[in-house]
Formats: sequence, structure tokens, C-alpha cells
Amino acid sequence: MRPDHFSSWLTVDAKGLYCRPGSFHIDPYGGAKRAVITHGHSDHARPGNEHVLATAETLAVMKTRLGTVATRGTQTAAYGEPLQVGDVRVTLMPAGHVLGSAQVLIEWKGARVVVSGDYKRSTDPTCPGYELLACHLFITEATFGLPVFQHGDAREEVEKLLKARAQFPARAHVVGVYGLGKCQRLIAVLREAGYDRPIYLHGALQECCSLYESFGVRLGELKPATGTPRDEMKGEIVLAPPTAIADRWSRRLPDPLTAFASGWMRVRARARQHGIELPLVISDHADWNELTATIAETGAEEVWVTHGREDALLHHIQSTGRKCRALALVGREDEDQ
Ligand SMILES: [Zn+2]
Ligand SMILES: [Zn+2]
Repeated sequence: MRPDHFSSWLTVDAKGLYCRPGSFHIDPYGGAKRAVITHGHSDHARPGNEHVLATAETLAVMKTRLGTVATRGTQTAAYGEPLQVGDVRVTLMPAGHVLGSAQVLIEWKGARVVVSGDYKRSTDPTCPGYELLACHLFITEATFGLPVFQHGDAREEVEKLLKARAQFPARAHVVGVYGLGKCQRLIAVLREAGYDRPIYLHGALQECCSLYESFGVRLGELKPATGTPRDEMKGEIVLAPPTAIADRWSRRLPDPLTAFASGWMRVRARARQHGIELPLVISDHADWNELTATIAETGAEEVWVTHGREDALLHHIQSTGRKCRALALVGREDEDQ
């Protein structure tokens, strides 16, 4: 059985979640001596750490977005490859969230702890699927930790977009997407649905798409929206960061029909508030059912909840007879919900 209570060796300090026998932080706020990074989103992969351990894909994302990944050195971990870090064994396993995203399995003195990072269970053609890991302590995200959040099937949402396109052939269909993950997933699901027209991109999205392609993810023909004649984009799909769709930027598109691909689009009021005509409920995070099912399937006796809407989830976990607590981590404002 467990040698110590988890909270005696997994603590939260000013830099975030810390594993004492391994002498490393997980997704620290920056300035850590040794950091294990679950994935490249900006609320997890911050600059200024001395040593960074992550998957090759996550290191590449960090290099692209931050310039300098670590001030002293980096170490690449392949999925499923156990590494000795201090006194613990660390294994990164697929989290199914975005390219390179990993759960962190920590093994010490017979105890198995899994830090989920961000994850989802639904399929995503752009990254390997989530792998369920049995553990004693599961540290889970809870971005969509309310029963109202049910994400459904991304392919059905993409069908709505294709239908709108057929219905309004003179309008540009501009879809708000987060740059790392959602953008490439939406493109890949469109391609799987047989959509082979060029897809037009806001300039801010190009770099991450190229990065995905460099890791073998095929996105088909992509064209820059800027500089393309207005009439050429009639009836076409144009992807842009969420901030650009309500901006002057989209006004030069032909009669833009605005869509937004996000788990938040389940909340109608939010779609209305942002003036979204076509809300697409596509999320790279576990929804309520995935969160609760995953917690049960890990067999964990104890669950810690990191970021998001914890209260309902904590209540649910308690009702299943597991110990649980909310981890007070600040600054988890997801760019990718
Ligand atoms: Zn994320
Ligand atoms: Zn996150």
C-alpha cells in the first residue's frame, strides 16, 4: 500500500504542483528548476523554467510559441517510455487533447499517481487517443465540470457547417477556433467528411498548422485569407482566432456567417452574446460524462481537481465514496476551451 499520504509528497507551492521525491513541478507558472509539461497551451507551458521534460511535439510547440523552451536544457519523452526523474518513475501517456499532449504517470514506492493535464476521450484525427491508466490518485482537469456540458460528436457539428455552406453559397463561413488544437482538428474532421476545397486561414493560425503538418498530420490545401480577393472567399470556409471574428478583420469577407467551435457553445447565451450565428459544440476537453466516467475507470481512491468548475464535480466524486479535494492552482485560464 501507499507509503505516505499523497499530500506529503505532492504539494502546491508558489510555482504550482510539485513532486518532492522527483524534484520537479508539473506545468509550473515559470521559474521552476525542473518542469514536466503536459502540453503546449499557454496556461500549461510557460516560459522561464530551467529544465523541461515533455514530448517532442510539445517541445516543438513551445519552441514555436515561446522561442526559448528552457533556460538550461530540454529532455524528450516518448509516450509510454518510463524515465527515472529523481527518485520517481515518470511516464508520459497520450491525453487526446492536442498534438503532443500527455498525462503524467508518476510511480513512487508502489503508489501510482496520474496527472491528467487537459484531456478528452472523444476521437481526434490529429493526435493519439487518451489512454486510460489505473492509479491510486487521479489529478484531473475540470474545465467542463458541470452536468450541462455534453459535447456530442464533432462530426455532426461539422455537418452543420457544411449544410450552412450549401444553404448560403454567397457567404463566407468564418469559424472562430483556438490556434493550437481546435483549428487543426476542425480541418481534419472536415477532410474526413470529404471536404476537399481549400480552407482559408487568418495569418495567426498558419504557424501551428505548419507545425502539425511537420509531425505528419495532413490538413489538405490551406490558403491565407489575407491578400485573397474578396469574391474568391464566397461560399468558402475561413478559420480565424475567436478575437478576429467579431473584429474589423472579418468585415472584409463577403457577407460573413460567423460560427465558433468551442465547448462553451453549449451555452446558448454565450453564443448570442458573441453574436455567433452558428455555434458548433466542439471541445478538446472532457465533458461532464467523460470526466465522471474517467474518474471511475481509473479506479482511483482519491481525486484532486485542478482547474475549472470544481464544485459539482467534487460533490459527485464524494457521492461515489472517493476522497477528493480542489487544488488551488491559479492562472488556469484555458486558451483552448
Ligand atoms: Zn489545454
Ligand atoms: Zn488547461
